[in-house]
Amino acid sequence: MTAHDYDLFVIGAGSGGVRAGRIAAKFGAKVAVAEEYRVGGTCVIRGCVPKKLFVYASKFAEEFEDAVGFGWTTDKVAFDWPTLVANKDKEIDRLNKAYIRNLEAAGAELIQERATITDPHTVELASGRKVTAKYILVATGASPFVPRHLPGHEFAITSNEAFHLEQLPRRICIVGGGYIAVEFAGIFQGLGVETILIYRGEQILRGFDDDIRNHLAGEMKKKGIEIRTRADVVGIERSGEGVRITLEDGAAFGSGQIMFATGRIPNVMNLGLENAGVDLTPHMAVKVDGYSKSSVDSIFAVGDVTNRVNLTPVAIREGHAFADTVFGNNPAAVDHSMIPTAVFSQPEIGTVGMTETLARQGFKKVDIYKTSFRPMKHALSGRDERTMMKLVVDGDSDRVLGCHICGPDAGEMAQLLGIAVRLGVKKSDFDATMAVHPTAAEELVTLREKSTA
Ligand code: NDP
Repeated sequence: MTAHDYDLFVIGAGSGGVRAGRIAAKFGAKVAVAEEYRVGGTCVIRGCVPKKLFVYASKFAEEFEDAVGFGWTTDKVAFDWPTLVANKDKEIDRLNKAYIRNLEAAGAELIQERATITDPHTVELASGRKVTAKYILVATGASPFVPRHLPGHEFAITSNEAFHLEQLPRRICIVGGGYIAVEFAGIFQGLGVETILIYRGEQILRGFDDDIRNHLAGEMKKKGIEIRTRADVVGIERSGEGVRITLEDGAAFGSGQIMFATGRIPNVMNLGLENAGVDLTPHMAVKVDGYSKSSVDSIFAVGDVTNRVNLTPVAIREGHAFADTVFGNNPAAVDHSMIPTAVFSQPEIGTVGMTETLARQGFKKVDIYKTSFRPMKHALSGRDERTMMKLVVDGDSDRVLGCHICGPDAGEMAQLLGIAVRLGVKKSDFDATMAVHPTAAEELVTLREKSTA
């Protein structure tokens, strides 16, 4: 018998919280999971899943154009936005229900209310009921950051609203140069919306390999996306059906919508963390150790609320490791290095390991192998699109430090490259591996020309 109502009380039923709750319950813990909105969290409800569905939708425009070179006639195609939104919503409903079923099947209790922490072992529900737990797990995720100092920011949308627009605007301005900005720029442009991306820095996707950033920017521009770098929005006004946007350099233009994709902030506000004495980082995330334990022994946190690596699979791994550690008698710390990732831009990016810039900072001799080629499909489609692949190799040990791809299916390739790079693969292992022909990925094992520094 536990002295508390629950062994574990999870706040937030997203990827990390649900995984932690399910695994803890399977270990025999008495678990409750509180969720104020819909079960599934950012990934399922307003992130990865609906985004990828929209990416699929937006790619058909080019597919129809490309099909002509293969003998197809496609002169009567039409797109209906409300159909896409409704079908996407149906799929989200299905996943939402599956998440609920899985939680219940594991034996966890779902409480569909907001919960706040009142002391290290107590949470108060929106209904006023107080419950106690031996451990509390904060898995409340993050929310879009909107620069609220900006005049007219209230006229802007974020990715949250982009999933539910009643109609597509004729033109959209997207602010930001990260994952969400470039992914939504591709979505809107593909769906026929004139798209302008405004980024304050030198080049989109800061932190990614420079060659890949430049390559993607070039390909996005070829598709008709206007990318304005070193540009910042200083004001937004309502204008007719849309908005009028003013940039720092004085330029002004009209747009149907303006969307901020300017990062996300951990959901720590009004959670009662201060009541328990939970420390935050300077970025206002829950501060945790390698086992996801906060500054309070009974309170843990996983996923975006900790602002470590804000990716769904990472939150899931952190949630699982937490349950193994606390309820499975198997202390497990999550290794946050060598995480493969994809950006579902068009074309897609798949990457794992170090960029060339990082490698040059840490290694004496760095060999670079890179290629850019026209995918075979475009020999007949006629499309002017190129794929870029790049290996960053430690010239002394021959170890592959990083692998970066911008081209169709790059995310699929990154998953498998992630295994190899993690295992310490050498460039000579790539060379010794037989090519799969004819594929784009075979270029990775046939790269011979190096540039050394
Ligand atoms: P990112 O942190 O990736 O990018 C934020 C962008 O906004 C940067 O370009 C940043 O510029 C810019 N920015 C920040 N503040 C301002 C400001 N005040 N004014 C103008 N520009 C600003 O955040 P996202 O919102 O794109 O995505 C959030 C996170 O979600 C990602 O980091 C990623 O972890 C995750 N995600 C993952 C996806 C995937 O796996 N495919 C897809 C979508 C999201 P600067 O570079 O100068 O700082």
